[in-house]
Amino acid sequence: MEHTTLFGGIVHYEHEQVMLCHDKHTGLKAIIAIHNTVLGPALGGTRMWQYANDLEALEDVLRLSRGMTYKASLAGLNLGGGKAVIIGDPRKDKNEAFMRRYGKFVHNLGGKYITAEDVGTTTKDMEYIHMETPYVAGIPESMGGSGDPSPFTAYGVYMGMKAAAKYKWGKDSLQGKKISIQGAGSVGFHIIEHLTKEGAVIYFTDIFEDKIKNVQKHFSEAIYVKPEEIYSLPVDIYSPSALGATVNDETIPQLKCEIITGCANNQLKDELKHAQMLKERDILYAPDYLVNAGGLINVYSELNGYNRKRVLEQCEYIYTIAMNVFEEAYTKNITTAQSANELAEKRIQSIANNKLYR
Ligand code: NAD
Repeated sequence: MEHTTLFGGIVHYEHEQVMLCHDKHTGLKAIIAIHNTVLGPALGGTRMWQYANDLEALEDVLRLSRGMTYKASLAGLNLGGGKAVIIGDPRKDKNEAFMRRYGKFVHNLGGKYITAEDVGTTTKDMEYIHMETPYVAGIPESMGGSGDPSPFTAYGVYMGMKAAAKYKWGKDSLQGKKISIQGAGSVGFHIIEHLTKEGAVIYFTDIFEDKIKNVQKHFSEAIYVKPEEIYSLPVDIYSPSALGATVNDETIPQLKCEIITGCANNQLKDELKHAQMLKERDILYAPDYLVNAGGLINVYSELNGYNRKRVLEQCEYIYTIAMNVFEEAYTKNITTAQSANELAEKRIQSIANNKLYR
C-alpha cells in the first residue's frame, strides 16, 4: 500500500518514532525510522538512494524498518527494528562532512537507533559516522568491528536449508541433492561452498562473467546454467540469492523444486499471494528474513564484544527456529510466511507484557 500523507504509513505500520534530518551546509536529507524497541535498540542499515520523491523515501524506510523488527525478533535477538534512508546519489552527494553530520543525527537519538551499512553506503561511511557516535555497527575488523557479514548469512541459509530438508524428507543431509543457486555474489559463493562440502549437486547462475569464473575456479564440479534457465530446472531445492521478487506469478508455475531457501530479501513478490501459491504446490518455503538473519546476528554480536563462536552458534539456531516455523504452519494450516510473522509478533508481545510488570 502506498501512503500519501506524512502519518499514513507511520500509523499503518505502527512506528514508534520517525526523525526527519536536514542540514543546509552539507545538503543532507535523511529519514530515520524506529519501528519498535520492545526487544532492544532499533538496529538497521542506512540506505542511500535517489528516490523519486520524499513520500517514496518515507514508504521505503517505514517498510524496511518494520522488516527489521520481525527479523530480529524471529532470530531471538534483543534488538528492535529500525532503518534509515538518505535521499541522494551515493556516487555524487556524500563526503566526510556529509556522513559525519548524519552521524550526529544518529547520535542525537541516544542509542535508540543503531545504524549499519546498506545499499549505497560503505564501511568507509560507517567509519565517518563512528567519528560522531558509538551507535554504529558493521565497522571494519581493523577497528574492532565484525567485518563482512556474508559468510555468516550464508551459514544461516545453509542451516535453514538443512532444516527444510529434515522437515520435508526426514533427513537433513543434502548429499546428492540437486540445488540451484541464483546469484553467485558475496553470499551465494559461500552457500555454494557449504553445499559442495556436503556433496550436493550444484547448479548456479549469475549475470557477471567474473562471478561465474570465480565459482568455476573454486568449485569445478558446480554446473553453470543461463539466468533464464534457473526457474525450470528439475532440482530439489531452489536458492534465490541475487535479488528480490523472483518468486512470482510467472516463476511459480515453472518451478520443479520441493524447497525454496535463499538469502535474497523479499523473495515473494506478494507475500500473502505467493506464499499461498507455494503452499498449494506443496513447495516448502523457508522465510527469507529468518534464514538470511546471519548477517544481522554477526553485527549484533559487535554490540556485546564480538564473539565469532557465539555468532556461529546463533546462526545454527536458525535450524531450530525454522523447524518451529514449519511445524506451526502445518499445525495451523497456514503458510510458512504467516507462521514466521506470527512467531515474531508473539515474542515481541510476550516481552512487552513482561515489561508491563517491571
Ligand atoms: P551481491 O551483490 O554480492 O550478489 C548478488 C549476485 O547476484 C551478484 O553476483 C549479481 O551479479 C547476481 N545477480 C544479479 N541479478 C541476477 C540475475 N537476474 N540472475 C542471476 N544473478 C544475478 O549481494 P549479496 O551480498 O550476495 O546479497 C545477495 C542477496 O541477499 C541480496 O538480495 C541481499 O539483499 C541479500 N542479503 C545479503 C546479506 C549479506 O550478508 N550480504 C544479508 C541478508 C540479505
